[in-house]
Amino acid sequence: MSNKIQNIEDTDLPRVIVVGAGFAGLKLVRLLAPSAFQIVLLDKNNYHQFQPLFYQIATAGLEPSAISFPIRKLFQNQPNVHFRMGSLLEVNPDQNSILTDIGEIKYDHLVLCIGADTNFFGNEQIKKYAIPMKTVGEALYLRNRILENFEKALNESDIDRLDLLMNIVVVGGGPTGVELAGALAEMKKFVLPKDYPELDFERMKITLLEGSGRLLNGMSESAGTNARDYLTQLNVDVQLNSVVKTYDGKEAVLASGAIYRTKSLLWAAGIQANRFKGLNEDLFARGGRIIVDRYSRVKGSENIYALGDLAYMETPRYKTGHPQVAQVAIQQATRLYRNSKRILKNKKLKEFEYKDKGSMATVGRNLAVCDLPIGHLKGFVAWVLWLFVHLMAILGAKNKLFVFINWSWNYLTYDQSLRLLIRHKNDNVVNE
Ligand SMILES: Cc1cc2nc3c(=O)[nH]c(=O)nc-3n(C[C@H](O)[C@H](O)[C@H](O)COP(=O)(O)OP(=O)(O)OC[C@H]3O[C@@H](n4cnc5c(N)ncnc54)[C@H](O)[C@@H]3O)c2cc1C
Repeated sequence: MSNKIQNIEDTDLPRVIVVGAGFAGLKLVRLLAPSAFQIVLLDKNNYHQFQPLFYQIATAGLEPSAISFPIRKLFQNQPNVHFRMGSLLEVNPDQNSILTDIGEIKYDHLVLCIGADTNFFGNEQIKKYAIPMKTVGEALYLRNRILENFEKALNESDIDRLDLLMNIVVVGGGPTGVELAGALAEMKKFVLPKDYPELDFERMKITLLEGSGRLLNGMSESAGTNARDYLTQLNVDVQLNSVVKTYDGKEAVLASGAIYRTKSLLWAAGIQANRFKGLNEDLFARGGRIIVDRYSRVKGSENIYALGDLAYMETPRYKTGHPQVAQVAIQQATRLYRNSKRILKNKKLKEFEYKDKGSMATVGRNLAVCDLPIGHLKGFVAWVLWLFVHLMAILGAKNKLFVFINWSWNYLTYDQSLRLLIRHKNDNVVNE
């Protein structure tokens, strides 16, 4: 395709193309919007997704619309911001242009913030059968799959097949895996027995498999130990040093030879940066991340930048790159914006350094862990802090209100009320 993206006029203003409206891209465009640039924002979706709460969609605690925000609504009053829904296919640095699935467009400055996707570490079989959770769509699919399995379990008399349908294995003991396993355990305890009284939930096993020797590797030792204790308290079978080698849709075989039988293998074991064509291979580091300098400039380039999960930046404090978390993305976008202002004032650019404000993970009601600059918190206090921080981070007052109402309702009634199986008539159940 070589047609031009339509209805974006060339003007006297320098054009900044920002690709990806996640945490980094959206922050940057919101900061840049009042300035003297023409901004083109491109994303393959027409909404921003709040990934930290995907697990609550998957476990029927929240509706997708509560944690997704329409991008157009944010820039309704910004005539210099043009949003286009489309996918980046290729960057052409020699021409200062990008190729997308809706056409080609030239830039003066290009900022790449397209984030990351699930990493199956090259295992095609696991990719085919495991269920990832890296988009709202995948989280919704996961919810449907779990509910569908219980509907089928009701009609099953064979004990082996019943176990396949009821058991759930979560792979990856980072925050996503821990939060997912905890939420599923609470569903098993408070919700599913009421919905499916004919099923024996003593049979249902929830297992969390982690390849390393501890949970929550990016957090403190205490956070990992506390999370493990909380999960055990919720009857999750936590298995450390457990690496999944194969999964055929029914049996997950570990490196140790141990076998776990389930039709629901939820994959939260790693991510890799999203790819596109056009940049030299030597610009990519581990995990497919693009190598940038301390000003977020792609190595060897003057006008291409990469931010967030996509970017690989070494600093004295982060010698192997930053953690792939929302705060890094947001802070890099803010630094880039501030540096753009410094350029206009002929001031020296400032190097980026990440200010770690802390990290947290929740396991269940009243159970969470937080590592803060002041120390480690756990239990109820950590849980309330987790709720507050996440509520404040969600985009839009209406979304905040809906999430707050949902959480209060779920807390008081011990029930999530969103267990609808909404499918297109052509949807087939894979993994028969
Ligand atoms: C389940 C889950 C839970 C998480 N929990 C936490 C947490 O509790 N705390 C925390 O700090 N971090 C958490 N993270 C990580 C955090 O979400 C990321 O670090 C953060 O989103 C990175 O921001 P980003 O802007 O780099 O990318 P993203 O926010 O991922 O945004 C990338 C954007 O690019 C778009 N895009 C992708 N490919 C293309 C393309 N080819 N063309 C056009 N657009 C494209 C996508 O649609 C998306 O809008 C979690 C992630 C997941 C998946």
